[in-house]
Amino acid sequence: MDQKGILIVLSGFSGAGKGTVMKRLMEKYDNYALSISATTRKPREGEQDGREYFFKETEEFEKMIAQDELIEYARYVDNYYGTPRSYVEEQLAAGKDVILEIEIQGALKVKEKFPETLLIFITPPNAAELKRRLVGRGTETMDVIEGRLSRAKEEADGIEAYDYFIVNDELETCVDDLHAVIQSEKKKTVRN
Ligand code: 5GP
Repeated sequence: MDQKGILIVLSGFSGAGKGTVMKRLMEKYDNYALSISATTRKPREGEQDGREYFFKETEEFEKMIAQDELIEYARYVDNYYGTPRSYVEEQLAAGKDVILEIEIQGALKVKEKFPETLLIFITPPNAAELKRRLVGRGTETMDVIEGRLSRAKEEADGIEAYDYFIVNDELETCVDDLHAVIQSEKKKTVRN
């Protein structure tokens, strides 16, 4: 019998290294599908429409909301971000484990709608490392970085809803831990 995939939300403070972790997870293990979000944020250098995000104008994004095309959406530091419904539903039905890499507000909405969702939080080893990674990335101005760090402090309130916290200190260990947690949770879901 075909087994439906499970829905996994991966969050972490901006600069926690989620992007790198995700990329490595997809390279190393099969059976994951990564949802591509829509956003009104402008593309960073090197980002492509339809690869990192579907880049939208505000009016287009609001139309997607009105037409119920998003599973969830949130405002994050002056922009909209949301998860398109169709891809997630298709991939789950095809037996893939679908990963949403989204912030906390959106994660809580997904959990409310789909209580079986596994919520995983990726953390940097400490706050100084978080700032170092954000600044080192060189893609944002200091103002935007400060906005993201203060958002990280606000978000700390929502994190008790998460099922697992994984420290991203050494990349390969983090990726293997993430995979192990998902697989063991998946076995529980199948058994129930
Ligand atoms: P960034 O601008 O750094 O790509 O993303 C900023 C934040 O938005 C990150 O915490 C990221 O996880 C989150 N994010 C990306 N896509 C979505 C989405 O579809 N929905 C929600 N709620 N958050 C998202």
